[in-house]
Amino acid sequence: HYQLLGSPVVSKARTLGAVILLLDVTDKHSAERSRREFTANVSHELKTPLTSILGYAEIMKNGLTKPEDMQRFAGRIHYEASRLLSLIDDILELSQLDEKAKLSDKEPVDLYSLAEDALSRLKSIADKKEITLSVHGEHIVVSGYRKVLDGMLYNLCDNAIKYNIAGGNVAVRIDYKDYKPVVTVSDTGIGIPAEHRPHIFERFYRIDKSRSKEIGGTGLGLSIVKHGAMLHEITIDMNSKENTGTTFKLTFPRNSEALKG
Ligand code: ADP
Repeated sequence: HYQLLGSPVVSKARTLGAVILLLDVTDKHSAERSRREFTANVSHELKTPLTSILGYAEIMKNGLTKPEDMQRFAGRIHYEASRLLSLIDDILELSQLDEKAKLSDKEPVDLYSLAEDALSRLKSIADKKEITLSVHGEHIVVSGYRKVLDGMLYNLCDNAIKYNIAGGNVAVRIDYKDYKPVVTVSDTGIGIPAEHRPHIFERFYRIDKSRSKEIGGTGLGLSIVKHGAMLHEITIDMNSKENTGTTFKLTFPRNSEALKG
């Protein structure tokens, strides 16, 4: 698509010529379309939990609820409201990634410490399923957006725990491959079926909505990872085997390390 901008340059009596500016607006159009689609999806995703909340509140409001049902309904409201909050948190995180200007400057980030920190915040969820968490490798310090890299690692580790089996493992490794810093997140979980692999980075894409609902996810985690990767020119590789596990590998460009000052 090209958009024509311009107007004839006219002097008093005669047309001198025309100034024409051709702009490639293909990107602009597709960005607008994806923004429109995103808004429609967001509205739908936000409406679903809200409709449940309103439904339960309505039943409780009429005063006819049996006492034994009260707690169950309050529990549902609590669950749906928490879901709404996670959705809004993820949407805000994603929208910040879309506006580079909103990010603070790049800074030195120790990937090993970042992984340890993300895992420590996830420990209580992992403990419930008796999943072992570990970090291996080197303290590689890259120059990057700390909050973004944290969000990426957190989401990958969160998934590695959520889609794991009881008693499983999640291992993060920080090392070099061909002089490039690499972060690997491996799990011993349920794996990703081949037909879904091309789609898992799409916004709101979940493999099995009912299963995911039980596990609790927004479908935005891997979009956050993908956007963060684009900001840092990180390549993402994924390897997965059903009922065996999944590995996500983030490869930074060469010379991503923060200069030692
Ligand atoms: P969600 O919030 O549902 O986890 P994500 O965008 O993080 O959304 O992931 C999209 C889908 O990809 C998930 O619903 C899940 O089915 C699948 N997935 C992501 N990570 C893993 C993993 N480590 N093991 C198995 N399936 C995964």
